[in-house]
Amino acid sequence: MITIPLTITPPIKTAHFHFGVRQKVLLVLLTVLLIALSMSSWLALREEETNLLKEIDQRGLYISRFVAKAMAFSVVGYDYHTIQLLLDELTFSDEIDYARVTNVKGNTMGESGFATLHTNIEPASNENLVMFTNNIQIDNETVGVLYLGLSTSHIMSRLETQRFTLLKREALIILLIALGEFLALSYIIVRPVGKIIDFLKSNIDNKGQLVSKIPMISNDEFGQLAQQFNTLSSQLNKANKKLRSKIESADQQLLETNQQLKQLNEKFRLLSITDPLTGLFNRRYFDRLMEAEVDLSNRRGDPNSILLLDIDFFKAINDTYGHYIGDVVLKNMTTVLRKNLRRTDIVCRIGGEEFAVLCRRANQTQAIKIAEKLRTAIEVTPMTPEIDDSLMITVSIGVASVPCRTKNTTPKQLYKDVDTAMYYSKNNGRNRVTHITDLHQEGTESRENKNSRG
Ligand code: GH3
Ligand code: MG
Ligand code: MG
Repeated sequence: MITIPLTITPPIKTAHFHFGVRQKVLLVLLTVLLIALSMSSWLALREEETNLLKEIDQRGLYISRFVAKAMAFSVVGYDYHTIQLLLDELTFSDEIDYARVTNVKGNTMGESGFATLHTNIEPASNENLVMFTNNIQIDNETVGVLYLGLSTSHIMSRLETQRFTLLKREALIILLIALGEFLALSYIIVRPVGKIIDFLKSNIDNKGQLVSKIPMISNDEFGQLAQQFNTLSSQLNKANKKLRSKIESADQQLLETNQQLKQLNEKFRLLSITDPLTGLFNRRYFDRLMEAEVDLSNRRGDPNSILLLDIDFFKAINDTYGHYIGDVVLKNMTTVLRKNLRRTDIVCRIGGEEFAVLCRRANQTQAIKIAEKLRTAIEVTPMTPEIDDSLMITVSIGVASVPCRTKNTTPKQLYKDVDTAMYYSKNNGRNRVTHITDLHQEGTESRENKNSRG
């Protein structure tokens, strides 16, 4: 019987925790939003910084021009005291960190602020200062130079505060957008897919077939997917059904062929052990039977006996009535033998007009009785009743039994014994029964002696 395994969809495993579509979508969303918002914040801060610096620039220019004008007469008049007062006033504010005034020759007339406190640091090299230089003029004539250093540190701290605020806002926005998109995607994509999976889990039978169609969940791609799946599944079911019926019919055929083969084998086996003329077992079967039964007797001690029957002057029957009548005699003799034997006794035709009978569980005395019964039955039965009542025959019978005088008799020895006994009958008047043990008392007569019977 051929069994073709059908493809069975493996059950969809659900791990306790799995990195599913939902988790992946959330991760992607968070990453993308983080990058996008970080970039936009960075750009916004940059723009803010540029704007503030521009503003400082304009303011610095305006203040320096204004102060330069205001100081012009103090410079011309060498009013160091007023200059210093003005400069101190200027640097007093948060906005201006450094102020200096020089005359046209470059000599300092007044200085205030950062550089005066930290003389070792050049104001120009300080990155928190933006320097402005303005000529002090009267009637277009330069009388001195004004240096102003505007501080950027308060701008920087403002930017830092903004950055922190932006970060907080950004994080909140990221979370809100991610949550919203996550919910939307879950509803739009993951939910229908989950529905399809749940349906498949509970609607696939143990043959791996979908027992009912996936319901149309929506009109979108998922609906189409379900529809395609239904079509595919019904085609698969049909193909499966066809395949199964083909397998079944192939199985049936194989079974029948097997049966026929078995019957044929049995026929051949029977033919090989049957004699075609009489329908009795042949010599081959008899030899096998002897092997088995003698072995059993030797092991278990059960009695078994063998009878060897040879038709007397059979050649003369053939010669007188023809070969056909000879065959009829052989067949009718078979009938007589069958009629007078037990069902457990087995008759075989082991030669032309020679028959052997295995009498199971029959010891010497019982075997002799059976042999006598057969001999008498044959002697009194007309052998060609369909043609002529007058054709009578006799048989000479030899008998041997196991267990016997020698322990563990071989089949070959037993056959030799029964043959010797049969020839003893032949040589001593025919139409008689001889058991091999009778003969042993009188002295063995061998098959060779047959030649001396004339
Ligand atoms: P004896 O009493 O000594 O046994 O003499 P017999 O003539 O029976 O013995 P013999 O062995 O001389 O002859 C046996 C004959 O059996 C010879 C053969 O023609 C004949 N025979 C063998 N097989 C068949 C068969 O199948 N059909 C027929 N009709 N005759 C057969
Ligand atoms: Mg013979
Ligand atoms: Mg004979």
